Amino acid sequence: MGDLTQRTPRPDVVVVGGGVIGLTTAVCLAEAGMAVLVRTADPVERTTSAVAGAMCGPTISGPDDPATRWGRVGETEFAALAEDPASGVHVVRGRLVSDLGDAPPPWAAGVPGFAPCTEQERAGYRSGFWAELPFADMPRYLAYLTARLTAAGGQVRLRPVTALAEAATEASVVINCAGVAAAELAGDDSVRPVKGQHVVVANPGLTEFFYEGGATDFWCGFFPHGDRVVLGGVALPYDRDPTPDPAVAERILARCAEVEPRLAGARVLRHEVGFRPVRPSVRLAEEPLGGARCVHNYGHGAVGVTLSWGCAREVAALVAG
Ligand SMILES: Cc1cc2nc3c(=O)[nH]c(=O)nc-3n(C[C@H](O)[C@H](O)[C@H](O)COP(=O)(O)OP(=O)(O)OC[C@H]3O[C@@H](n4cnc5c(N)ncnc54)[C@H](O)[C@@H]3O)c2cc1C
Repeated sequence: MGDLTQRTPRPDVVVVGGGVIGLTTAVCLAEAGMAVLVRTADPVERTTSAVAGAMCGPTISGPDDPATRWGRVGETEFAALAEDPASGVHVVRGRLVSDLGDAPPPWAAGVPGFAPCTEQERAGYRSGFWAELPFADMPRYLAYLTARLTAAGGQVRLRPVTALAEAATEASVVINCAGVAAAELAGDDSVRPVKGQHVVVANPGLTEFFYEGGATDFWCGFFPHGDRVVLGGVALPYDRDPTPDPAVAERILARCAEVEPRLAGARVLRHEVGFRPVRPSVRLAEEPLGGARCVHNYGHGAVGVTLSWGCAREVAALVAG
């Protein structure tokens, strides 16, 4: 006689966090054959990850920085994803400009599609160059990752963990991908939430992106995603207010319209706020958690989408190893 009791099978791994870091890690683990449960405090579409622009690259860290290795993995993964229209990732041509120097930085020549901007194309900035980079339309991309995880047998559950030790009662491996909340869960006071804000407008016909690099708190950037354009940007470390600031939105709209006049008067669809999980460096490391294993994967700051695949593959290798 068969067992008539119905039980949810015990997962091999609990991933804490359903943002881009948690979902990508969960996909890698599930596609490697593990039973994966993602526990998230927020619906996937309401995470910081859903707010990102999201430019995937370029990787500009030094050769000894692990972020360089993670970024390289991302370049390959996002190039492949851009071939799949269902992924929400697409390659866009556009300008990277800066007031930091009179010429593009040396690494720029290695960026796909590199060509120096003319003076007019620099839009008043001291230097600028053209590039072709992958961009993720984050709401679509997160839905794609969720579907890919489910197809590999994984699950996403909207149920916060009270502590990492609580997650360890469900599986012998816990992956901490809680973004800003990792500060509390891991007792790590080096994580700081840095506020970002976007204005999303109906696309008046833009096909090229624009991004000002090197600025600290306010800069100009716009990223077309089909019928909408995401405008930014700010990095406000002392503002913890999760509501969009109308004055910041005005400033973003005005600056973007100066560079791209077609954005003046574009219909505003929504205002979005997200908190970047900034840390001096990404924490990707294993430590014991009672009798279980815990792998931390958090603190990706302003480049979490860019680094997501490199970090996720490394976590999967750690768990398997
Ligand atoms: C305005 C803006 C623009 C950006 N643009 C870019 C860009 O162009 N390119 C780029 O690479 N990056 C960009 N970033 C950075 C990127 O968005 C982040 O680095 C990335 O989203 C971090 O992902 P995460 O999964 O670690 O965090 P999050 O997306 O914040 O996810 C954290 C997850 O942990 C969950 N969680 C928290 N506490 C608990 C708990 N107790 N139990 C269970 N789950 C919990 C949350 O519910 C959530 O699911 C941008 C960020 C902002 C704000």
